[in-house]
Amino acid sequence: MKIELKRTSEDFSQKLNLKENPETLGLEAEGIIFEEPIEVELSVTKSQDQLICRGRVKTSVKMECSRCLAEYDQGLSAHLDFVVDLTGNVDEMRSEEDGYFFADPTSTFFEINALVREGIILSLPLKPLCSEDCKGLCPICGTDLNKSRCSCVKERTDPRWDQLKGLLKKKS
Ligand SMILES: [Zn+2]
Ligand SMILES: [Zn+2]
Repeated sequence: MKIELKRTSEDFSQKLNLKENPETLGLEAEGIIFEEPIEVELSVTKSQDQLICRGRVKTSVKMECSRCLAEYDQGLSAHLDFVVDLTGNVDEMRSEEDGYFFADPTSTFFEINALVREGIILSLPLKPLCSEDCKGLCPICGTDLNKSRCSCVKERTDPRWDQLKGLLKKKS
């Protein structure tokens, strides 16, 4: 994915809608299964010698729920926010800044693949869930509790329950 570097003297603002195959971004190699192409919406504003780029990347991937182990579609979305400096002079201080890049003065495009890839990887959930209230699998018999019930008795490990049970026994 690329942004065209229009080196005009005029300032401008434009909207970009880019689509890319996940393979091109090297993301399938990370073991992620994509359902859709990767879409980038970006607003690019040229102000003097800078291109101010803001927008987002979105796509959908197949993931395995960490509770019930079912495969589900997980929508991903990440913000993109960066500046491309067109001056051709690399300022050491600024090059340390996150999201501040210096365009090669001889090139007519700025490559954003690495930024898009990073956005997607950071937006992957650490604990994938098919739904917020997924009931998961029974730890004893393995029944998917979203689909059916089982009759396993789950041991309470909370000691307060044992105390309560003791009290109830005394009463009866
Ligand atoms: Zn689940
Ligand atoms: Zn069970």
